[in-house]
Amino acid sequence: MSKSLQAIRGMNDILPEQTPLWRYFESTVARLLDNYGYKQIRMPIVEFTELFKRSIGEVTDIVEKEMYTFEDRNGDSLTLRPEGTAACVRAVLEHGITGGGQTQKLWYIGPMFRHERPQKGRYRQFHQIGCEVFNLDGPDIDAELIVLTWRLWGQLGIRDAVKLELNSLGTSESRGRYREALVEYLSAHLDKLDEDSQRRLKTNPLRVLDTKNADTQAVLVDAPKMADYLDDESRVHFEGLKARLDAAGIPYVINPKLVRGLDYYSKTVFEWVTDKLGAQGTVCAGGRYDGLVEQMGGKPTPGVGFAMGIERLILLLETLEQVPEEIFRQVDVYLCAFGEAAELAALALSEKVRDQLPNLRLQINAGAGSFKSQFKKADKSGALYALILGDDELAQQVIGFKPLRGQGEQQNIAFDALAAHLATCIVQG
Ligand code: ATP
Ligand code: MG
Repeated sequence: MSKSLQAIRGMNDILPEQTPLWRYFESTVARLLDNYGYKQIRMPIVEFTELFKRSIGEVTDIVEKEMYTFEDRNGDSLTLRPEGTAACVRAVLEHGITGGGQTQKLWYIGPMFRHERPQKGRYRQFHQIGCEVFNLDGPDIDAELIVLTWRLWGQLGIRDAVKLELNSLGTSESRGRYREALVEYLSAHLDKLDEDSQRRLKTNPLRVLDTKNADTQAVLVDAPKMADYLDDESRVHFEGLKARLDAAGIPYVINPKLVRGLDYYSKTVFEWVTDKLGAQGTVCAGGRYDGLVEQMGGKPTPGVGFAMGIERLILLLETLEQVPEEIFRQVDVYLCAFGEAAELAALALSEKVRDQLPNLRLQINAGAGSFKSQFKKADKSGALYALILGDDELAQQVIGFKPLRGQGEQQNIAFDALAAHLATCIVQG
């Protein structure tokens, strides 16, 4: 195949054999978020580039080197969204749905785009489900976001494989004081820092804390600690969060080096990490961003949220073999018909049955074929039952009903009684 006919590197097709798992995952999360009172919001995939520069921050990895930015035909600079928070904040401001101090508990799902080096668990188009909550400033809502993800891990059967890491970044004032102290300390050890950290020291010094470089890590051992610079309000908030997690029985570890890649966080930051996926171990990450809405031109509005990476969570489900078998069975009944007259009758009958059983997953054979070939297709479809209609059955206005997975004998059912019969043997979703 010529190159132009291939998908772009790092952007994946999700094939029919994989979509049941995606839908299982997505519907599990959607139901959970409904149950906790979150409402879905859908934003465009493309926004003005300025939005991301202003919200995520000019000196972050995303804005510096990962964005898909292009000029449209009007000459505007547009960007494929690299994350959801910026667009969500833009949307709530634009529609004035937080401006009077109203609480909004929102969630979104969709593709995000970052020009990174593709590898397992890291792609250029990937998918996130995220939550954003506005106008609640207490630790109770930070806790709720964590509690609901913990419940999700339980529902998915992956609780034992993920660990919660927590930190508090304080307010922008306390973080400013800490940043000064850190820069002063690191500047005195400049020659021992790796090149990247030397650069970050000037642009975004807190990010030096999450360096992977061993020499820089050694220097950091004696560096000033963020916790010693926390203001009282942030300290009380953090204690309140920890008390709630303790009350809910959710284990966590404090990671003082957890700083997150985006500029807009304050107070609480957290990550759910796993050691089962190699280097791409963070499956869900979030935190509080009390200054962001104001920074983007709105009234001061507290905010807190998270985003989870769907690909990584799906990889984790597969790695841990926590994929329920039944999600792949998508046909209840497969109808085989032989000859033109039977095909016509089968179509009319199956539409009647669908009227009565709207959730029945009935597949009707297309493309005719011998008894043997239709039966093979019925079996391959995963259906629990085959329905068989030939001239003999048609003459008697009955249809053959054959269990395909070894539950009972074949029998004939009158056309009129078919829906009622199916209703007794198939559990409908
Ligand atoms: P990482 O440190 O792995 O690059 P990040 O801090 O850039 O992650 P966030 O911006 O916090 O990630 O995004 C939230 C979640 O989205 C991540 O924890 C991860 O699960 C997922 N994610 C981020 N980037 C990618 C990607 N390129 N491919 C797949 N999933 C991703
Ligand atoms: Mg990243």
